[in-house]
Amino acid sequence: MFDLDGTLILSNRKLGSYDAIPGAAEALRHLDDLGVPWIALTNGSAYASRVQAPRLREVGLPVPDEKLFTPNSVAAKVIADGGYEKVLVLGTDGVVDALEELGVTCVPPSGDHKDCDAVYIAWHPDCSMPHIHAACEAVLDGAAFLTASDVPFFATKEGRSFGYSCAINGAVSRVTGLEPQPTGKPSAHALDFIADQLGIAKEDVGVVGDDATAEMQMAREGGAIGIAVTSGSTSAEEWAQQPANKTPHVVIENIGELAARMGLG
Ligand SMILES: [Mg+2]
Repeated sequence: MFDLDGTLILSNRKLGSYDAIPGAAEALRHLDDLGVPWIALTNGSAYASRVQAPRLREVGLPVPDEKLFTPNSVAAKVIADGGYEKVLVLGTDGVVDALEELGVTCVPPSGDHKDCDAVYIAWHPDCSMPHIHAACEAVLDGAAFLTASDVPFFATKEGRSFGYSCAINGAVSRVTGLEPQPTGKPSAHALDFIADQLGIAKEDVGVVGDDATAEMQMAREGGAIGIAVTSGSTSAEEWAQQPANKTPHVVIENIGELAARMGLG
C-alpha cells in the first residue's frame, strides 16, 4: 500500500498541481511486471478516486481508478457495516459526491440532521461555527463520530500543510468529550480495508509512507510491515528518533529503491 502525499507525489497546494516523486512511476510499473498487487490509499478526502486518479496519470503515475482509495472509501464500508442510514457530513462537495457514489445517504450541516445516526468529518476548508454546532449536537444525541483523518499535517512542496478535519475533530471532541473514529490511516478500519482489497493477510501488507503516525503507527499496531520513505515530511534523522509504536521496519530514500530493498527482484 502506497501513501500519496510525500510518497508517490508532492502537491503544490497553491496551484492545485502535482509532481510525481522521482522513481515512483518506475517502481509501480516494476511491481506490475512482477505481479505484486498494490493499491494507493491517501488520507486526502477532498476528491473521489475517479477524479483524483486521472490527475495522477497526467503526471505519469500508472494508477488506475480502481487502485486508488480514500478515507471516504473506508468510511462507506464502516457506515454500511455499522448500519448507519443517514450521515451528517462536514466536507466539500467532493466528499459528499464520493460518499453518495458509494451508496451513503448524506445530509449537509445546513440540512435536517435531527435523526442522523453518524457524523463524518472530512476535508472541509469552509467549516463554520454552525457546522461544528450541528456536529456536536448530533454526536451528543448519540450519532457515531467518524472522521476521514485525525492527522494534523501532510507533506506538500511548500512544506507541511494543515489537515482541516483534525482541527474540526478537536473542536467537536472538546465540546462532546468524545473522540472521533478515523476511517483513514492509521485506523484499524483502514488496514482491514487495505488487506481486503489486496486479498492478503494484514501481516503481509507492506505499508509505504512518509508519516510516522499515519503509516508507521498503522503498520505497527496492525502487525503489518512499515516501509518509510524520506521523500516527504519525515527525514532519515527523524525516522531514527521515533517511539517503538511508530518505528519503521525499513527506511528507504524513495520508492524507487523499494523492489530492490524488499528483495522483490
Ligand atoms: Mg504522506
